[in-house]
Amino acid sequence: MHELSITRNIVAIASDAAKGRRVRTVTLEVGALSGVMPDAIAFCFGVVSAETPIAGALLDIRKIDGRGRCRACGSEFAAAALYAPCPCGSREVDLIRGEELNIKSLELEEAA
Ligand SMILES: [Zn+2]
Repeated sequence: MHELSITRNIVAIASDAAKGRRVRTVTLEVGALSGVMPDAIAFCFGVVSAETPIAGALLDIRKIDGRGRCRACGSEFAAAALYAPCPCGSREVDLIRGEELNIKSLELEEAA
């Protein structure tokens, strides 16, 4: 399962970044066209994060819709799929949003 290894990466990066502090929330951006299923990440996160420094942290997934810009007519449009053509019919499209898979932020507990 693809999402399991992605989740392991996310947990490892977040654990490193926390440097021993407790993590309350991990905010993740997942593009609709990234090929990653947010529900599967959410499912794996609880399992993978157990017994790591970020056990108990909440995972906040922000989904990002796909967006393309047409090279032929210059318009921007909602891209429901990779390689979705522009409404004008052109397939000369640059994807400008929707492939993200980023840890956007970590909310840490204040040091006592
Ligand atoms: Zn166009």
